[in-house]
Amino acid sequence: MTEKEAQGCLPGALPDDLLARLAEEMAEHGIAPAWEGRTLRAELPEGRAVIALGSRGLTARVTARDALHLHQIREGMAHLVEHVLPGSAAALAWTGDLDPAGSMPPNLQLAGIVSVDRFGSSFLRVELSCPGAAAFARGGMHFSLLLPPRGRAPVWPRIDARGRTIWAEGAEALHRAAFTFVEVDPGRGRIVFDVFDHAGGPAADWIRHARKGETVALMGPGGGEAPPGDVVLLAGDETALPAIRHILERSDAGRRGHVILEIGRPEDRTALTAPPGITVDWVLRDRPGAFWQRLLDAPLPPVGENRFVWIAAEQALVRRAKRHFRALGIAREESCFAAYWAA
Ligand SMILES: Cc1cc2nc3c(=O)[nH]c(=O)nc-3n(C[C@H](O)[C@H](O)[C@H](O)COP(=O)(O)OP(=O)(O)OC[C@H]3O[C@@H](n4cnc5c(N)ncnc54)[C@H](O)[C@@H]3O)c2cc1C
Repeated sequence: MTEKEAQGCLPGALPDDLLARLAEEMAEHGIAPAWEGRTLRAELPEGRAVIALGSRGLTARVTARDALHLHQIREGMAHLVEHVLPGSAAALAWTGDLDPAGSMPPNLQLAGIVSVDRFGSSFLRVELSCPGAAAFARGGMHFSLLLPPRGRAPVWPRIDARGRTIWAEGAEALHRAAFTFVEVDPGRGRIVFDVFDHAGGPAADWIRHARKGETVALMGPGGGEAPPGDVVLLAGDETALPAIRHILERSDAGRRGHVILEIGRPEDRTALTAPPGITVDWVLRDRPGAFWQRLLDAPLPPVGENRFVWIAAEQALVRRAKRHFRALGIAREESCFAAYWAA
């Protein structure tokens, strides 16, 4: 199979340390880029990216085995550049093996609401019909849900002539939120996910009022492979419960460790399928700091073991947890700290 290739250019006089900042940001995402002189080379699960900084600006050459993966690397590049140099990604232009201008991004699938049911006391279980469900069978446990504004025909994102993804704005802007697959059934074209039904959440609100047959879109898969490790510490709140359930269900029988789950209501304690060596600790959000204290008291997976610490919850708590576990010697490659929402 011939590889797909695209060249990106961000023109202009850019900061001298831009490549170093990109390298640092990649490392935060678990990518270890290599320096070749003043060029940065990143080997990725989807392909590779070679990035250079010159007098004309930043240039990137990206290669992948197919159009979907090429698109994902280009989007990842744009995201990275935007993070390091806010406001700049719109000027990043691409040539090469691009999807035709006007087409929908190759990582977008349309889906229809089949049902929305209460699940436990705090969740909504959503079933979608999705003819392109096979696209999500591999490549990570998460996706991005795109919801059109109520009462308007959806305006889905399109690829422009310079290879960028153009999103509807203003009254037509889509609402985006990340979720975790509970089930992907390519044979039946079905997708299931759980939404924590919290107050003030536009996604939960949309889903609560959804009608059978309404169209939504899914982008992904969006990474988030189940973590490695023989001895693990997994922790999170309701938004991380689907991911933790997914990780536990796919854990080897010999895996050991500890799970801490924060919930708002005792009824949300549900049965989890976990290896016998993993203890599951439910913490009620009935007094401030209870979850944090439980994290501090949790047995740390010991040095010398193939260990992993995985924490997903509210942004400020996750940042604090990252500092805490780094100080205890948990290295970048044996941890994942993910902000699932922001207070
Ligand atoms: C990789 C990933 C996977 C995720 N998987 C799931 C999943 O499977 N199920 C799930 O329910 N969520 C999941 N989340 C979290 C979900 O994306 C967020 O809760 C998101 O904020 C929901 O979008 P929203 O539009 O309802 O609210 P937003 O527009 O993000 O926020 C609106 C308001 O709601 C508040 N808010 C948001 N989340 C919460 C919360 N949990 N508790 C209290 N207040 C909140 C915010 O502070 C804000 O004031 C995941 C997040 C990530 C990054």
